[in-house]
Amino acid sequence: MIGHPIAHSHSPAIHTAAFEALGLADEWSYEAIDVPPGEFSERVGELPSRGFVGANVTVPHKGAALALADTASDPAGEIGAANMLSFSRGTVAADNTDAPGFLAALPTSPAGARALVLGAGGAARAVVWALVREGATVEIWNRTAERAERLADELGAASLRVEAELPSREFELLVNCTSVGLDATGSDLGLLHLTAEEIGPDHVVVDLPYGATDTELARTARERGATVVDGFEVLVRQGAASFRIWTGVDPPLDVMRAAARR
Ligand code: NAP
Repeated sequence: MIGHPIAHSHSPAIHTAAFEALGLADEWSYEAIDVPPGEFSERVGELPSRGFVGANVTVPHKGAALALADTASDPAGEIGAANMLSFSRGTVAADNTDAPGFLAALPTSPAGARALVLGAGGAARAVVWALVREGATVEIWNRTAERAERLADELGAASLRVEAELPSREFELLVNCTSVGLDATGSDLGLLHLTAEEIGPDHVVVDLPYGATDTELARTARERGATVVDGFEVLVRQGAASFRIWTGVDPPLDVMRAAARR
């Protein structure tokens, strides 16, 4: 896992637990490497000779990872970012498992659903791309409205400007792709223009930020009877997709979930 900063990453624990559970820990290992911007290409170039078959890539390198690769999967090319690289016979292939990982974490297919995506950064790009491709109707709200408009135009979604509350009741799926939720300030819903009363049992709420405690959004949505998919589940699903591509083996999801939360 390459990022900057990276010390907080749960991915080494998730993959290591899966290698151990499958008896693969003697052959495989996974580590986090902090690579500052400007050193990305050079450091990635060294990895194959050090025995690495690939790398996951996170902020701020997902665009650079796509640019560096010799080939790219359709999701990586269309999203414009890669969170996964594979090295084989001197070439580098880029992929994006954020999108399939997000879809795998959903309890049901989003085809035909109305989805409200909060945020217009890197995570939102993969989520909006995945939802549009699966046949959901997607509206994007973002604090900086112009970014939501640009993302919507690019990926075939609509954007939503609100002065007061978002009309959450009109959507079946709510996805928080902002970084709001990690500070435990207790004012997350306000920052996201959401109200508890607008969230109910018919909602699926996906909350990408993850940390030591539940976010206010996840806690409120659970209390209101919604189906909640938290950031750990999405993290595990995208990790599992990478694991499968590199090793050719299906990883044990429950082992990965437990390691992510430990
Ligand atoms: P990013 O590119 O930096 O985007 C951040 C987004 O959050 C932007 O839309 C930004 O709005 C919004 N935002 C930040 N502070 C805000 C505030 N105070 N009020 C309202 N909106 C605010 O980050 P990212 O890579 O998309 O990641 C977003 C979050 O998802 C992070 O917490 C990340 O850890 C998490 N994530 C989780 C997973 C997972 O597997 N669970 C995967 C990817 C990301 P502006 O445009 O107005 O600045």
